[in-house]
Amino acid sequence: MPIYEYKCQKCGTKFELLQNMGATNEGVTCPKCNTPKPVKQFSVFKTSGEGSSGCETGVCPTCNIPSD
Ligand SMILES: [Zn+2]
Repeated sequence: MPIYEYKCQKCGTKFELLQNMGATNEGVTCPKCNTPKPVKQFSVFKTSGEGSSGCETGVCPTCNIPSD
């Protein structure tokens, strides 16, 4: 199960949450001020394979890792 990082839109608190893959911010609230639907930050887990266009041919423009 991946850990997602969220940021509260109201108070800016960042917190991490263990959620199922593909989970949304639906039902998630800020632990500090209880504001619903925080903004999902990019998690520390890299989602490889799907949607990473640059890595398939040549050098990835994002991470500069050449693929062969
Ligand atoms: Zn908050």
